[in-house]
Amino acid sequence: MGPLDDCPFCRIGAEEEGSRSILYEDEQVLAFEDIRPQAPLHVLIVPRRHIRNLLELEEGDASLMGRLVLVANGIARNKKVDLSGFRLVVNCNSHGGQTVDHLHLHLLAGRRMGWPPG
Ligand code: AMP
Ligand code: ZN
Repeated sequence: MGPLDDCPFCRIGAEEEGSRSILYEDEQVLAFEDIRPQAPLHVLIVPRRHIRNLLELEEGDASLMGRLVLVANGIARNKKVDLSGFRLVVNCNSHGGQTVDHLHLHLLAGRRMGWPPG
């Protein structure tokens, strides 16, 4: 039992919960539906490794971050929202609206997004 037992996204990675909504997984990356969707399609793309947020990324994580974006692209294509469009969001710390301290990309689609974001 370590601190990561408290992290909901590490738990999903360990398949203790939420496996019902997993859309994609490989050795490094996991994608699953957001439990409180803010759009008709709302998917979270996360590294399996517990990275707290954008600020914790290191030089060696550049390709991992790229992988997360490519997985998001693939899901957008599979769900056929690529042409209508979508938004990728990464919230960081308090003013960014981060509530779960495990790095994640939000893939939002299926409706027209507002700008500026709230
Ligand atoms: P953020 O506010 O950017 O940190 O986003 C955290 C997101 O995680 C929110 O959209 C939550 O609805 C979502 N969330 C929290 N717990 C879970 C969970 N167990 N399964 C799926 N999504 C979750
Ligand atoms: Zn975690």
